[in-house]
Amino acid sequence: MTGGPSALDSNEILDIFRKSGALLEGHFILTSGAHSPNYFQCAKVLQYPNWAQILCAEIAMFFKDHKIHAVAAPAVGGIIVAHEVARTLNARCVFSERENGVMRFRRGFEIKRDENVLVVEDVVTTGGSLKEVVQLCRDADANVIGVGFLVDRSNGQVTFGVPKYSLISVDAVKYEPRVCPLCKDGVRPAVKPGSRILSE
Ligand SMILES: [Zn+2]
Repeated sequence: MTGGPSALDSNEILDIFRKSGALLEGHFILTSGAHSPNYFQCAKVLQYPNWAQILCAEIAMFFKDHKIHAVAAPAVGGIIVAHEVARTLNARCVFSERENGVMRFRRGFEIKRDENVLVVEDVVTTGGSLKEVVQLCRDADANVIGVGFLVDRSNGQVTFGVPKYSLISVDAVKYEPRVCPLCKDGVRPAVKPGSRILSE
C-alpha cells in the first residue's frame, strides 16, 4: 500500500531526500564492498526536525482514522520517526531495544492490552526488526493497526500481515564490483559515501 492521503507527491518527497543528502545518486561503494548507483542514509534527512515532521506526518495521515494509542519503533533508526508520527497522532511514542539479542521494551515503556498500536521505522530492507516489534505488541495483546515507514528498500517485497504504508520506494541495487555496469560504462570512479571526493 503506497499512496493514500498524501500532502506531498513522490517527486517532492525524493527532492527532500536529495536536498538533505539522504539520497545520493552516482556510483558508490557500499559498506559490503558492493557497487551501487545510489546511496541512502535516512538519518541525513531526519537530522532536520522540520523535514522529519513533514515526512512523518505523511505516515500519520495514512492511519489518522484509527484511534492510535501508541506508536512503537525499533531503536535506533525508528525513534525519530515514532516521535514525529506520535506527535501528529497525539499518541505515545515508545521504542524497543535489543538486550542480549532479544528485542524488548525497556525504560518502563509498555504497550497495554487492547491498545491500538502503529509500528514504524525509517528504512525497511528485510523488515526484520519491525516484525519483532509487531510481535512484541501482539504478545502484549495490543491491536497492531499497521506498519509505516519512510523508505521501502525491499523492492516492494516486504510484508507484515497488517496494512503497510511507505512514503517512497527506493530499490536497493547492488553489483559485484567485477560485473558492475557503472564501472563497465566508465561512470566516474566509485566512491564511498562520506569520502571527501563527494564534497569536491
Ligand atoms: Zn562500479
